[in-house]
Amino acid sequence: MKAPFILHIDIDAFFAAVEVMLKPSLKGKPVIVGGMPDERGVVCTASYAARKFGVHSGMALRTAAQKCPSGIFLRGRYHIYSQISRRFFDFLNRLSPGVEGVSIDEAYIDLRGMQYLYPSVYQMAQSLKESVEKEIGLKVSAGLGFSKLGAKLATEVAKPGGFFFLGDERTFVSNLTLEKIPGIGPHTLLILQGLGIKRVKELESAYPSIWKKLIGPHLYSSSRYPGNTQGQAKSCSRETTFPEDISDREMIMSHLAYLVDRLSVYLIEHHLFSGRIEVKVRFSDFSTFTRRTTLEFPTSSYQHLWKTSLFLLNQLLKKKKLALRLVGVKVEDMMRQRDLLPFVCLKSEKLSHGVSDIRKRFGFSSIFTGRELFLEGIYPVEREGMVLKTASLTK
Ligand SMILES: [Mg+2]
Repeated sequence: MKAPFILHIDIDAFFAAVEVMLKPSLKGKPVIVGGMPDERGVVCTASYAARKFGVHSGMALRTAAQKCPSGIFLRGRYHIYSQISRRFFDFLNRLSPGVEGVSIDEAYIDLRGMQYLYPSVYQMAQSLKESVEKEIGLKVSAGLGFSKLGAKLATEVAKPGGFFFLGDERTFVSNLTLEKIPGIGPHTLLILQGLGIKRVKELESAYPSIWKKLIGPHLYSSSRYPGNTQGQAKSCSRETTFPEDISDREMIMSHLAYLVDRLSVYLIEHHLFSGRIEVKVRFSDFSTFTRRTTLEFPTSSYQHLWKTSLFLLNQLLKKKKLALRLVGVKVEDMMRQRDLLPFVCLKSEKLSHGVSDIRKRFGFSSIFTGRELFLEGIYPVEREGMVLKTASLTK
């Protein structure tokens, strides 16, 4: 029988765990990272003590404060989280050539070829988990699987701090409800639920062809091994909730420009190009819309990303005649290599690289686009950028 060779590792309550590591008196306390209890915006991470009160990431800070009045609310120190994340991925990349980043604190590792060093694949996984914990000083949960889906679901069972292997993945998955399967979006879910289908096994017996499309690839596809993405996430996003709802279009554009600028810097620093871009808005009535498009060519240039995201923003603003409370942007389909491009495209990239070099020497805030300067009067400007109301980081 084939051995399970995919390990999924997820840092437990990442941001909150870092805060506890830096300030041990917080240990065991309900730590909530994301902002102050009376602020707009959402919880980024809640410690397990806070989760007992029903607080979870994505929840409005005010709701979290109601559920957990004793919560210790922190704004978060994102540059520290990024540093630890980098150490986490550097370490994984030294372990295996097949590391696929899922997000800032989560990755798949291809263990094939390493089993000869250990008595069994289970001992190997357990030992790798422990060495990761030692390296970053934080607890992680780990799942071993035949497929990425199986490994990720095993991690869910293992949380917090444990290690798990599902064994018979197909049976395990068939008993799950559909919303537990990554990649099944809310629309598909609604349609299937409308047909009276709640669990994977009901889908398999009633609509085997849909099962084959939605579930099969997760379990059997040849691409189920983690690809080497050098520890890079497949997508990267930046978003912010405004201190107050904004209806002024120029001001909304300035916020978006700043977020696009941050993304462009991220791409350049990581030697990546993005193939797709998505813009997200949330109106004052909390309705949220996204729109995405494939870029003309894969790029890291601010000018190109900005041009396309502005086009998407203008389409989104037509949806409702309301003020906005949040704007965000995401790049997807990130790649390291692309085909040769016409000279004209490279020009604006050279400009972005030049700007990036200046910022490396003198700090991010040493140079801004004119549009971004509108924000200077609203937010404090530090060396490494503006301090927006809610931090924006890939989750
Ligand atoms: Mg995590």
